[in-house]
Amino acid sequence: MPFASPADLSPVPQAEAPRDCPLCPRLVIFRHECRAEFPDWWNAPVPAFGDPDAWLGIVGLAPGKHGANRTGRPFTGDYAGELLYATLLKFGLAEGEYRADPADGLKLRGAVILNAVKCLPPANKPEPREIATCRNYFEAALVALPKVRVLVALGQIAHVAAARALGLPPASTKFGHGAEAVAPDGRILLSSYHCSRYNQNTNRLNVEMFESVFERALALRDG
Ligand code: SF4
Repeated sequence: MPFASPADLSPVPQAEAPRDCPLCPRLVIFRHECRAEFPDWWNAPVPAFGDPDAWLGIVGLAPGKHGANRTGRPFTGDYAGELLYATLLKFGLAEGEYRADPADGLKLRGAVILNAVKCLPPANKPEPREIATCRNYFEAALVALPKVRVLVALGQIAHVAAARALGLPPASTKFGHGAEAVAPDGRILLSSYHCSRYNQNTNRLNVEMFESVFERALALRDG
């Protein structure tokens, strides 16, 4: 079954990895295992999704196996996407209907979703060198998105990757729900607990907490 290239689907094609990006050997092996087991799934680096003129960047960790790794669109098809896309729709950052399918016609308005790591990691745990390697693509995406003024990082790994990309020393940029830091170039990093099934089911994150981060992002845009 032929698949599009990540660049063909991206608002920042110049910052996308090729379908067979060879740079992280462990993730390449896992990619081939998944392709053998699930030949109809995306099973490739997941491109950014959203508005090329975005002011807001949302940073996830890495594709979920049954979510973005299956469908090819960030957060699409997994539990975390339900809350994320409902929130974007609620605050006017998306238009249409989210049906957990890249063909649902959903469009982001003023927002773009990026991942710190583009390929599915075993057990959802990328290794530090994989995060560092994929940061080249993440940084290229930020360069290609000059209107992004606020980044919302979902979870600690995304927070650290975004802090590094923004030139903020991670040691002095503590992760916490609602934590806020200003980068040397004035862009603002907001952090949120990840909207994972585990965090929601354990009440570490609830809807109000998640929405409050986006309310703050909108206030920063307007203020
Ligand atoms: S995680 Fe990033 S750098 Fe590593 S193989 Fe995938 S696309 Fe390439």
